[in-house]
Amino acid sequence: MSKGFLVVISGPSGCGKGTICKELLKQNDNLIFSVSATTRKPRIGEVDGKNYFFIDDKKFDDMVKNGEFLEHAYVHSNRYGTPKKFVLDNIERGKIVLLEIDVQGALQVKRVYPEGVFIFLLPPSMEELKNRIVKRGTETKEDIDLRLKNALEELKFVDEYDYLVINDKVDNAVKKIEAIISAEQLKVKRH
Ligand code: 5GP
Repeated sequence: MSKGFLVVISGPSGCGKGTICKELLKQNDNLIFSVSATTRKPRIGEVDGKNYFFIDDKKFDDMVKNGEFLEHAYVHSNRYGTPKKFVLDNIERGKIVLLEIDVQGALQVKRVYPEGVFIFLLPPSMEELKNRIVKRGTETKEDIDLRLKNALEELKFVDEYDYLVINDKVDNAVKKIEAIISAEQLKVKRH
């Protein structure tokens, strides 16, 4: 069996990464989602082990110390990390592993795993980005401002990615990402 590969979907908070990943996973059996660990408190409806592994700072520190993360970062004042073993085991099993992570994390993954596929997802405009974060209704005013400020910083790193997808409509963005994944599956060589 041939090895799988890793696909990183990244981009500013509110660009629609979560929705796009959910759709991709619903429609493609060959994809598997990498559940991150976080010290953030669960939002209403979020399930431990499905959306995230909700852990405390001490456990997060232990995982960092034991080298259990492929990458980890502070994002909007909480800590997030990608458990390494799950990702590497599934790539060995021939799976396409989907990581939905922020830009700092994506750049770290690129350093240790450059053969991954790195996709930057953009909202159609900053105005639309703000609307989406506000509409979600889960963040305070300070949190929204912080997320918008971080978005501007993250935009500077677009050039580090392999692909840029504008999330104007979910269906369109999903189709484009499926096309990217199909092309990557046909690749003869990974760099
Ligand atoms: P939220 O708190 O809204 O679920 O996520 C906040 C941000 O953290 C999003 O941009 C999300 O992509 C990012 N994120 C989620 N999991 C990880 C992870 O494991 N590593 C990193 N670096 N970022 C993550």
